[in-house]
Amino acid sequence: MKKCQICNSTNIKILVKKRETPFSVCSDFKYKIDFSLATCRECGFVFEILDRKFDEIANIVYNNYNIENQPFPYINNQLRLSIDHLSNIITKNSFKSILEIGSGRGDFLYTIKERFNYLDIVGIEPSKMDYYIPTINSFFEAEYINKFFDIVVCRFVLEHIAEPKKFIREISKISNHIYIEVPNIDFYLSSGMSEFSPEHINYFSKQSIKNLFRGFRVDVSISEETLRIFATKSKYRSNIKSEFKDRQILKYFRNIDKIVDLLSKKDKKIAFFGCSKMFLWCYYILDYNIKIDNIICIDDNPSSLYTIHHNIPIISFDKLENRDNYIYLISISNIEIAERISNRLSEYGLENYILWRNL
Ligand SMILES: [Zn+2]
Repeated sequence: MKKCQICNSTNIKILVKKRETPFSVCSDFKYKIDFSLATCRECGFVFEILDRKFDEIANIVYNNYNIENQPFPYINNQLRLSIDHLSNIITKNSFKSILEIGSGRGDFLYTIKERFNYLDIVGIEPSKMDYYIPTINSFFEAEYINKFFDIVVCRFVLEHIAEPKKFIREISKISNHIYIEVPNIDFYLSSGMSEFSPEHINYFSKQSIKNLFRGFRVDVSISEETLRIFATKSKYRSNIKSEFKDRQILKYFRNIDKIVDLLSKKDKKIAFFGCSKMFLWCYYILDYNIKIDNIICIDDNPSSLYTIHHNIPIISFDKLENRDNYIYLISISNIEIAERISNRLSEYGLENYILWRNL
């Protein structure tokens, strides 16, 4: 029996079902899985109902993870904010040891240790790669860790975990403090972007995080697309509060169908501005009608990290030839940037564009 991983209710409603959907983290669209997004009728938690075994999915995802060749340590803006946030927590609580679950090459902990050189740091990472910090190559299980840590860090991991409550229970065997970062479903739904993707099993809001961390004192800080959570074990158990996002989610998927409809009627090649998860859904539906040769992605700041996105070339707008042959889809979470792009297209006399936020 399927049940809600937060409140244990079996009163589940399926919101969206899609067959054979590709994973967005893999470097091409070869690996596909059925996607069923559901919500709990008791607490409103949004999650993926898995028809396949978690291990099977995990193996596909972690053996085909799209790892780019970045200099080490690679620190982007979002990571810098996270480092500042955790640094404050470390200083305030005089923490001396950190375990990170899903540590990758070690970019995050390495940079933290540069600030606090006395810290004892260890990473756990299921994907094989070159590690720059002491790392255990494995999935996390508390029994393998014969040590207690001041804090366990888990960045963009919890949304992939089939049984998040059990996972947190396991972590709390080896630490009294947990620092978590996850995508914020409220931001994605309100901006019209999304993190909906088959490899994401859980979609958290501030409230569902509080519901999940009962028995913890929880401090949630929101910075647009990211929830940063510092949880400390406590005897106090708050009540579960309900919140429902069904309508917003259904609208999101209806809008995708609308866009795909517009794109396929125009008889033009397609240029995607912005490569969010929305791209995945459009591409996945379009793939049946449109050849991959007729699609490109545009990024005016090609960070040089990406020149290919799921086998589709990424070029800057300046390099694009025969611009009249394209219909442009602008899907960027920052509305000002999205509008700037649409104005620029108009200046070039290119009226064939769809601004995702206008739907
Ligand atoms: Zn529930």
